[in-house]
Order: sequence, then C-alpha cells, then structure tokens
Amino acid sequence: MNLKDIKDLCEKHNIKVSGDHIEFNKSTPDFHITKNFKLHEFLTKNTKDTATKINLQLILELQNLRNLFGSPVGISSSYRSPSYNKSVNGATSSQHIFGNALDTYPLNGDIKGWITTVVKYKKFGGVGQYKTFCHIDCGATRFWRG
Ligand SMILES: [Zn+2]
Repeated sequence: MNLKDIKDLCEKHNIKVSGDHIEFNKSTPDFHITKNFKLHEFLTKNTKDTATKINLQLILELQNLRNLFGSPVGISSSYRSPSYNKSVNGATSSQHIFGNALDTYPLNGDIKGWITTVVKYKKFGGVGQYKTFCHIDCGATRFWRG
C-alpha cells in the first residue's frame, strides 16, 4: 500500500483528503485504513474535539513499523487541537497539533522491543522515547528521551 492507495481508499469512504492529511470525526464510519489499523484508532483522544486531522504518510509508516515489530500496537495520543494540547501539557509547537504525530505502545508490553524497532527502521522525522510509549512524527529528524 502506498500513499496513492491510501488516499484512494479514504476518498472511496468519502473522507476529505487535503495534501497528505485526512480530516474525519467519530461519526465517520469506521473501516480498516491499513492491514492492522482501523480509522477510529486515529481519532483524537479529546472527546470534546469534533474533528481529527492526521497525516496519511504517518499512518503508512506506523503500519510498516508494526509489520517489522510483528505484534499489535496501540495509539495513546493522536491529533490534538491547540487547546487540548495545552490541557495535556504538550509542547507548544507539538507535531500533534498538526496531525503529524502519534504516541504508540505495544499491546504485548514489550516497550523496549517496540522502541528498538522504531529507532532502527524509522528513517526520517522525530522519535521520542518514553517509559510507556514511543512518540513518532513526521517533523524534523530528531531523537529524544522523555
Ligand atoms: Zn507525542
């Protein structure tokens, strides 16, 4: 699956695609957007927000990393509106605000293994290593420990 495939798939499901981003909300019908991820897994965790913006390249990258890891991965944070980002003490210029970041964790609890996979195979963008999750984004290439 490449960028064109995933854009076509979203358009088939009547989801607005602008550039590399899609915009949807919880009333958008759910479907498998990639082999292992359903659209609604990428919904903002802010129940007050109606819309979620997310980068399709990041979704493809997450699926690729999950393939390499070989075990299910969950999402603890996705798109954040500026006010929601502030409420969860996110960085002011957080890539989450732009729909360019995901906080991810392995369902099998092997956080070390998951972070090792991400660090080894993620070629561009940011990787933030935390105790219970791994932040990935498509901003500038950088690495940090939280
Ligand atoms: Zn994050």
